[in-house]
Amino acid sequence: MFEIVFLGTSASAPSVYRGLAAQMVLASEYRFLIDCGEGTQRQILKSGMGFRRLNRILLTHGHLDHILGLGGLISTFVRWEDGIEGIEIYGGETTLQRVAELIYGVVFGGQRPGIPIDMYKLRPNDIIIQDKQMTLTAIPVIHRGAGCFGFVFEQASHRPFNVDKAEALGVPSGPQRGMLVAGKPITLPDGTVIRPDDVLGEKIAGAKLVVIGDVGETESLIPYVQDADCLVIEATYLEEEAEMAAAVGHITAKQAAQLAADANVQTLILTHISRRNAEWAVRNEAQEVFPNTYVARDFDHFVVARGKPVERLSRE
Ligand SMILES: [Zn+2]
Ligand SMILES: [Zn+2]
Repeated sequence: MFEIVFLGTSASAPSVYRGLAAQMVLASEYRFLIDCGEGTQRQILKSGMGFRRLNRILLTHGHLDHILGLGGLISTFVRWEDGIEGIEIYGGETTLQRVAELIYGVVFGGQRPGIPIDMYKLRPNDIIIQDKQMTLTAIPVIHRGAGCFGFVFEQASHRPFNVDKAEALGVPSGPQRGMLVAGKPITLPDGTVIRPDDVLGEKIAGAKLVVIGDVGETESLIPYVQDADCLVIEATYLEEEAEMAAAVGHITAKQAAQLAADANVQTLILTHISRRNAEWAVRNEAQEVFPNTYVARDFDHFVVARGKPVERLSRE
């Protein structure tokens, strides 16, 4: 199961209602901040999610509306007693260069920061985290300039344990069942060998959440987005401004919806909303192509779980 909390949903400049780009993703024991527009610190406080363990920061690209909040956030982290022990920042090369100027040049003024800050340069298809529970992959995205990324969170697939079958075969409850789930055969006291296939059901794919920031084309994304339970993507423009969108490396609500339809996505959530466009206009345009569309608002909280519709938990 993954959770995503929208901390800012506006494009390029904030509005009265929307902060600049930032989202928090909760995935197994990890908490990620994806992008950190100006004002994100206060949005985190308002969301009630807290700063704890929020030490992994994923950056889609280096435009100011996605990174300027890092200066303040990291300055707070560094001064925060018994808080964060170290920060990991993941992004493309040019993004990290800009972030380094901001952090080391401006925030710390050439001094050493009080906590370790590790920057990880992403290349297309880099696996950021892979463990028994999940995989997090950085995928290439075409926006403006090189080194733009989206992020794919995939829960590990699993085979359900069939208790009835296990009982019928005489498998005692306890650690031997755990061994079967882990794929190891066991031997019963009477010498019978039970194999995992005897008690495990068909493989069930895990939940898949794809988060894409600013983007200027969608064709290349289809294989990465394929069969996602939830796709989060920008919708900076409406179709009447499609030419303008293409010229500045953004997409329209309709293009986002078409991607969701083409890639067999279950739920589409649009963000990076321009102050020039009404929320209803963005939603209507997308829903004509892909009905199961939300337009995110600041502090919206969604749960993405295996085999279930995406659930919207709260909104302010
Ligand atoms: Zn942007
Ligand atoms: Zn941008």
